[in-house]
This record gives sequence, structure tokens and C-alpha cells, in this order.
Amino acid sequence: MGLVRKVLIIDLDVHQGDGTAVIFQNDSTVFTFSMHCEVNFPGTKQNSDLDVALPIGMEDDEYLQTLDKYLPDLLSNVKPDLVLYDAGVDPHSCDKLGKLALTDTGLFRREMQVLTACLAGGYPVACVIGGGYCDDINGLVYRHSLLHRAASQAYRQYRL
Ligand SMILES: [Zn+2]
Repeated sequence: MGLVRKVLIIDLDVHQGDGTAVIFQNDSTVFTFSMHCEVNFPGTKQNSDLDVALPIGMEDDEYLQTLDKYLPDLLSNVKPDLVLYDAGVDPHSCDKLGKLALTDTGLFRREMQVLTACLAGGYPVACVIGGGYCDDINGLVYRHSLLHRAASQAYRQYRL
């Protein structure tokens, strides 16, 4: 009891994290961060503690640079006892509902970027896979596996 006083939710699913934004809107112990495509569902966006809306068609480097612009400062400002990370793979270029243009490599780099930013700062992080809408099931499964591959690599890298 009482071990976790502050939680940071990092929601990188391509759709805004509107559910957590509403649920925790009056809860100062949970900071909600959503980086999503500006024109996707939901049409009416809720207010996260920090929303970063991305333009249609954004590719790997710009996306990762945008994430890097916010994430380190966010971690050091919020100082969460626990980070919950929603690693939706629907920002991928092949995604039917996504509207962004990340590659598999870009998604893997994203997962490493999130995990190493958290671990380098000593912040425990729990991850969940998120959205992904693609007829190519093998490609989709592979994309979801990137989170696990990155977590294994980070686990070894930080000798956890
Ligand atoms: Zn989604």
C-alpha cells in the first residue's frame, strides 16, 4: 500500500487516449500523456494532461524526434512511481485506421526510446500492446512483438 503515489500514462496508440483522459481528468495522481494523429477517431478529443496531436502522414524520424521533445522532460517533471505504456502499433504506414506512416523499424525504435527513457531515469514501466488494424495478420503480430523484443533488449541492457 502506498508504494505508488504518481502514475504516468504514455499512450502512443494513434488514436487519442480519450478514455484515460476522462477517467483521470480530476485525479492529480495520474498524469495522462497522449501522442496521436490529429484527425483520427475520436472526432471530439478529450483533454489529457498533455496532448500532442500529429499531422497526417508523419514518418519515423519526425515522430521519434517529437516524442523525444516531450518524454524526457515529462518523466523528470512528473517523476512517476510507475509508468503505464500503451504501445499501439496503429501509427504504422500499413494500418487501415492510422493515418501516420511509421515503419516496423520506426516502431521498434519508438519502443526502445520509451523503455530506455524510463529505465535510464529509474522509472518502472509496464507495457501493454494496443491498437493495430491490418489485413496482414502476420505483419500485425510481428509489429506487436516489437514491444516484447525491445523489452527483452532493454532488460538485458539495464541488467534488470
Ligand atoms: Zn488505436
